[in-house]
Amino acid sequence: MDNIDLKALAKLNIGLDVTGIRDDGYHEVRMIMQTVNLFDKVSIKKQEGDAVTMSTNLRFLPVNDDNLCIKAAKLLMKEFDIHTGVHISLEKHIPVAAGMAGGSTDAAAVMFGINKLFDLNLSRKDLMERGVKIGADVPYCVMRGTALAEGIGEVLTPLSPMVKCPVLIAKPGISVSTKQVYESLDSCFDNVKHPDIDQLISDIKNQDLHAICNHMGNVLEEVTIPLHPVIADIKKIMLDHGAVGAMMSGSGPTVFGFFEDNKTAKTAKEALTESKLVKQLYLTTLFNNKY
Ligand code: ATP
Repeated sequence: MDNIDLKALAKLNIGLDVTGIRDDGYHEVRMIMQTVNLFDKVSIKKQEGDAVTMSTNLRFLPVNDDNLCIKAAKLLMKEFDIHTGVHISLEKHIPVAAGMAGGSTDAAAVMFGINKLFDLNLSRKDLMERGVKIGADVPYCVMRGTALAEGIGEVLTPLSPMVKCPVLIAKPGISVSTKQVYESLDSCFDNVKHPDIDQLISDIKNQDLHAICNHMGNVLEEVTIPLHPVIADIKKIMLDHGAVGAMMSGSGPTVFGFFEDNKTAKTAKEALTESKLVKQLYLTTLFNNKY
């Protein structure tokens, strides 16, 4: 086998709580993660020589060791003493710096690809253990599906699959610094409203979309929305056009809405297009299969 093509799928947070700050500055979280059918395309090809190189359709992304694709490939190739060159082509569709774990899922896909191309026979668990060295969300991106993420995001418990429904994903044309969002949270930590993650877990188990949407919550909205009110505007358009629930994913600025049917979701999509508030807009589905 000389080349392999993979789909690197994005995630949403149906619930996101920050429960504390560790001595080393990392935040303790409780997040409900959900994979969605929105993906980057990752192709890995063996090449002459021993270089690990990459190319991407997004000019502003690094194509050196700062790219998580290169980091992931080198991590495995170093450990297993592989000196064959590889080239990674990355076609980005997942919004960048948007709370959808785009870079982490690309890294997870590259780990799967290298594992296959070089017959390393690593299990999913083996890849998850190595993935955390690249980023806290990488083990989840290896695991996929509906899951509870604790610790700094790397302690994972699979949950019963989320009820199937159309999901609208909208990213405004602004960038949010995850670091700034967490720093702002630190300064108001005692006054924020925390979502009830355990209640959400039981709503998911009951496959009750309305209860899930009533209890969805993201503690980071409290700091990101005042900085970027367009997030609240997008949520409102989704809710006014029939979303059962709408929320910001991760540290934002991406907003997603859950709908009962495709027709309503399409109407909301049209309204968002007309509003001109959104730069990237996708109507898609939830994804609960393994790699
Ligand atoms: P998270 O949901 O985990 O917080 P995010 O959506 O905030 O992730 P990413 O899209 O993963 O953020 O990218 C954040 C930064 O990481 C980008 O600004 C980019 O420079 C860098 N980066 C490195 N590798 C990648 C990659 N493969 N795809 C996207 N960004 C990457």
